[in-house]
Amino acid sequence: MRSTMHTTHLRIRRILEHGARVHANSRIVTAGPGGARHEEVSYAETARNAARLANALRALGVGEGDPVATFMWNNQQHVEAYFAVPAMGAVVHPLNIRLPAEQLIHIACHAGDAYVIVDHSLVPSFLPLLPHLEAVRHVIVNGPADLAALREAAAGAEVHDYQALLDGAADTYDWPDLDERSAAAMCYTSGTTGRPKGVVYSHRSVYLHSVEACLPDAFALSREDMALAVVPQFHVLAWSLPYAAFLTGASLALPDRFLAAAPLAAFIAEARPTKGAGVPTIWGALLRHAEENPETDLSSLREIVAGGAAVPASMVRAYAHRHGIALLQAWGMTETSPLGSFYRPGGPHSRAGTPVTQGRFTPSVEARLVGADGQELPWDGQAVGELQVRGPWVTASYHGDDETHGGAFDDGWLRTGDVGRILDDGQLDLTDRLKDVIKSGGEWISSLALENHLAEHPAVVEACVVGVPDDTWGERPLACVVLGAEPVDAALLKTFLTERLEQRWQVPEYWSFLSSIPRNSTGKHDKQEIRERHRNAALT
Ligand code: ADP
Repeated sequence: MRSTMHTTHLRIRRILEHGARVHANSRIVTAGPGGARHEEVSYAETARNAARLANALRALGVGEGDPVATFMWNNQQHVEAYFAVPAMGAVVHPLNIRLPAEQLIHIACHAGDAYVIVDHSLVPSFLPLLPHLEAVRHVIVNGPADLAALREAAAGAEVHDYQALLDGAADTYDWPDLDERSAAAMCYTSGTTGRPKGVVYSHRSVYLHSVEACLPDAFALSREDMALAVVPQFHVLAWSLPYAAFLTGASLALPDRFLAAAPLAAFIAEARPTKGAGVPTIWGALLRHAEENPETDLSSLREIVAGGAAVPASMVRAYAHRHGIALLQAWGMTETSPLGSFYRPGGPHSRAGTPVTQGRFTPSVEARLVGADGQELPWDGQAVGELQVRGPWVTASYHGDDETHGGAFDDGWLRTGDVGRILDDGQLDLTDRLKDVIKSGGEWISSLALENHLAEHPAVVEACVVGVPDDTWGERPLACVVLGAEPVDAALLKTFLTERLEQRWQVPEYWSFLSSIPRNSTGKHDKQEIRERHRNAALT
């Protein structure tokens, strides 16, 4: 029997039109210096600006399927590009502004970016790249900047002012009826596991992902909310928050470049978001800021989501007890759009002291655990293997590449490179990334478990554990620790760990006390950099 339903395609255009019409008065608030409110715009006006931008881009020659790059912070104009570019049939490509120049050049050339929208505050970092971006024909600058310098560096490319382009354009656009499988957006992985790889999202994948991101056990967004997107828009499309916000009517708070704890706290007090999303290091910094500055007002926040790296249980407790804020955890990757699983603490069915996990899989993401011998493992909370996933918003290949990327896929499943177990109630409990696992004398030591235990010590502000070469055991753990005011030494922390670990041989013998832990381009602990520093120190 055939269904009697419309075969309407799922398109970003629909998300935009719905937000503009049904949630016309929901707002995007963008931060300015010190975390003050800089700009504010309604969803209805955002849609008109998106139409203006689409008209301007079309006049510059943007056609269906063309990548349009952004080199921007989280702000109103970046959201306008998030809607205008895909809805007109082109492909929005947020560039990770924190990547090293040579990776950025590789990525922009590999994607074939001919158009780039650049925030004025980022022009100084964009200028040196420009002469190397051979495909770029048009640079559009958002905000006041020295356009003459850009024109000089651009050698042939035209340079435009964002606002001037919009001022001269009509505020309606005849959005095309695109096939839902056509490309809507692209992001590159941050290259921690090799060369950056391009992932291309479709209208359908973005739409479905955004709907499921709003589920009550995920972001649980509604019209009553204002969502603070600290997660950069260049990091897996800000986890779909702008699209989820237009679907639900939740307003958006965007911090632009004011991401340090002090302006972020001021912006929270000013815009009063109810929810937030960012990597754990951001929430850790905010927590410490609130401790050192008791007047900090986080009272509007009810829930915040940390994703992209493991969340220490001590941080979940600290937010709950000190601020009454539920810290949730999401697991995902660039390749998974990113949401794969979601952890929500507490709730009527949870027992006191239940461990913090990566949470339950979101319905459309199918998961399996695979052992070293390639056999599927049970979900029994014991067996440890590699997580593999597939689903409507999980990538099945990489952009412009026929290579297998060292076996990134296994019979159609994405090999995540993440190692852990799955509990019998469907919760994912990761212990490591394959490349971070510490192999000591034939046994595996979980760096995440050691980090979690160390974070429990009141003197420890942050902890990061990596494997380093060892003559006897092959590899042993090196614990890098940032301390607060209380002075403790390695011997004391070793005793602390010995009391907590069932397997005492896992206690690290290498220790390094740092003033801060190096971060990668998405704000996560940079384990590669730590291993490198250790290697160089060992050589000298
Ligand atoms: P990259 O792979 O370049 O670091 P991604 O942002 O795509 O860029 O990172 C995805 C990886 O981040 C996952 O494969 C996993 O190792 C890690 N990750 C994401 N979320 C979590 C989480 N909640 N807990 C532990 N690790 C996580």
